[in-house]
Amino acid sequence: MLNQLTDRLLKKEWSEETIEQLVGDYLHLYHAYAEDPQVRRNAASGGVGSALLIELIKAGEIDGALVCNSRIEAGKVRAHFTIATTEQEILEAQGSKYVETAFMKEALPLIREFDGRVAVVGLPCDITNLRRWLQKDEVLAVKVRLTIALVCGHNSRTQLVDGITVKLENLAGGKLQSYRFRRGHWRGQLEAAFDNGATIQKPFSYFSLYQNLFFYSEKKCLVCHDHFGYQADISLGDVWAYRFKDDPIKKTGVIVRTAAGEEAWSAALQSQQINSTDLDITDILDGQARAAPYHYNVSARSRVAHLLGYKVPDKTNSQVSWHQWLSAFMALFNMRWSENKRWQGLIFKLPRPILKLLLYFRKGLESLP
Ligand SMILES: Cc1cc2nc3c(=O)[nH]c(=O)nc-3n(C[C@H](O)[C@H](O)[C@H](O)COP(=O)(O)OP(=O)(O)OC[C@H]3O[C@@H](n4cnc5c(N)ncnc54)[C@H](O)[C@@H]3O)c2cc1C
Ligand code: SF4
Repeated sequence: MLNQLTDRLLKKEWSEETIEQLVGDYLHLYHAYAEDPQVRRNAASGGVGSALLIELIKAGEIDGALVCNSRIEAGKVRAHFTIATTEQEILEAQGSKYVETAFMKEALPLIREFDGRVAVVGLPCDITNLRRWLQKDEVLAVKVRLTIALVCGHNSRTQLVDGITVKLENLAGGKLQSYRFRRGHWRGQLEAAFDNGATIQKPFSYFSLYQNLFFYSEKKCLVCHDHFGYQADISLGDVWAYRFKDDPIKKTGVIVRTAAGEEAWSAALQSQQINSTDLDITDILDGQARAAPYHYNVSARSRVAHLLGYKVPDKTNSQVSWHQWLSAFMALFNMRWSENKRWQGLIFKLPRPILKLLLYFRKGLESLP
């Protein structure tokens, strides 16, 4: 009841023009989840990304799927791409990896070497770059049957997860052996295991508090306005409406954009392994009401960039209100701070209540009309 009231209070009006700018073209929208609890177990949202890939392989629509695995390398969490061909391999790659990757460097050779048709999962920028290659490389174009973009606020450099895992190692008194960024209901929790047998679970906010304040954000995200994956056949993300918070099953918001996306979605649904209901575009946008407009507004970041020594070409020509200016300034200030060898050590020493205050202040700014 309270959650529904909160949704009503937070509901925004979205003009056709804004919807077109933020989301791009689409055919259908769904709120969906994987029927198999095993497929939902380690998923970032409703496990639809994995269920879709598994069912497409089973139906013979694709031979493999480019997915992203996290590993521990020299004690640090790193993410790399592989082509999964079995259900087990797809499940092993589940969940969101909030750490920089080398998509083009790793994905293109993998797809070229793979003997068969693939679906590719990537962030919006990765899918856009891949599309450019598909236009000029016929061999690749024939192999890539489906592109799936994960909705993306921004991604983080390795230093962020490294800072978090050092804190966790100090708590556990052991060396990191495995790490999962996020699983479980609503915002979920992170999980880490150590060589002394200890395991730690923390609310995902243990990591996302820094992430949402843009500490250690990747630089490329400064110039990016693609939140929902304009160029993908299908985009997948969370629907952060409060009325879904008490829903026992977490779901994925699905944006089907192209005929290839529609074909793949229908083929996967035939197996009855994905439960799906219709969704309205305003539900998706209300759930991203702060992050998506901030992301799109490159103009705000462009206006403050020179003050912090960045160059951000303004490609959206958006209006910039005082609060959008200030929110962009806070994000870029924290990025600059993360790069400063002398002061970056302070970031993980700041008391969390102070960071939370900063985050609520920034959220407040982004909620202003
Ligand atoms: C960096 C990042 C930022 C995100 N930001 C938002 C956001 O602001 N708002 C929002 O609604 N959703 C965001 N998402 C998407 C969301 O977290 C889920 O990935 C999405 O809802 C799909 O969940 P699922 O349970 O259906 O997929 P799952 O079944 O968990 O499958 C996810 C698939 O994505 C692949 N994958 C994971 N991380 C990466 C990566 N970094 N690069 C390429 N492939 C990857 C996995 O290998 C897996 O195949 C983000 C994801 C990432 C990785
Ligand atoms: S914000 Fe844009 S550039 Fe940054 S990781 Fe996401 S899609 Fe890529």
